[in-house]
Amino acid sequence: EPSELAPSSLNRSIHEFDFNLICEYFSNVERQGPGSPEITLKALSFINNLTDESRIADIGCGTGGQTMTLAGHVPGQIVAIDLFPEFIRIFNRNAERFNFQDRVKGIVGSMDNLPFQKEELDLIWSEGAIYNIGFQRGLNEWREFLKTGGYIAISEASWFTGERPAEINDFWMDAYPEIDTIPNKVAQMQEAGYIPVSTFILPETCWTEHFYAPQIAAQEKFLTKYAGNKTAGELISNQRHEMQLYDKYKSFYGYVFYIGKKI
Ligand code: SAM
Repeated sequence: EPSELAPSSLNRSIHEFDFNLICEYFSNVERQGPGSPEITLKALSFINNLTDESRIADIGCGTGGQTMTLAGHVPGQIVAIDLFPEFIRIFNRNAERFNFQDRVKGIVGSMDNLPFQKEELDLIWSEGAIYNIGFQRGLNEWREFLKTGGYIAISEASWFTGERPAEINDFWMDAYPEIDTIPNKVAQMQEAGYIPVSTFILPETCWTEHFYAPQIAAQEKFLTKYAGNKTAGELISNQRHEMQLYDKYKSFYGYVFYIGKKI
């Protein structure tokens, strides 16, 4: 029953909407979460253990925006996983378009049941997706697939301040109660058995230019196609509401990259 899966899917606040509509909507944009090629490369600059033999996983890859950037700048094999077959179909088409098909492979799977061996991976990448099982659970469970000395690079919603206005606090408590401050997240990373190597805040353009702006055109197209469909209308209103909240409260929260090394 698709709507049962939806709470662990995609964009926090839209969990009550029809699963297939959500997939279709997000299939029409290059990224399914905030980020940019520059920021993927900045996070990558802290990682120095990769060779042609390296094995890399990109978890919750979506249609592969960040994976294609990674693939162009790292040696080794990349396996990318997402729950949604349609995203993986688009992902593998993109991999071929960039001629990465020999070393970049998208597969359908779930982040709570990964198909890797113990200590197989040199690098685990995951942009804006670990919230689906929670930051701490993901860090703990995924660690066993990393070699000692291997890296993890995760982007995750985080508070910038100790306190914030009720409206935005309530929004996030409903959407993802595990959102926390940067020092608390760093401490969680250390407790899970990683050396915190670097953290940095994604610039606003990762939200405005790379995530929300492409959605504006996608929203128009979607509303035209589904004119009169209440669920589709609500999905778009919800996305627009989230965008407005970001504009209003962006000094209180954002995405942060956390890079750690397994000890
Ligand atoms: N990494 C991509 C990006 O930054 O553009 C996508 C981020 S999007 C906010 C979250 C992704 O997690 C979606 O592609 C969604 O399909 C995927 N996802 C949700 N639950 C999942 C699960 N249990 N296992 C794997 N992927 C999942």
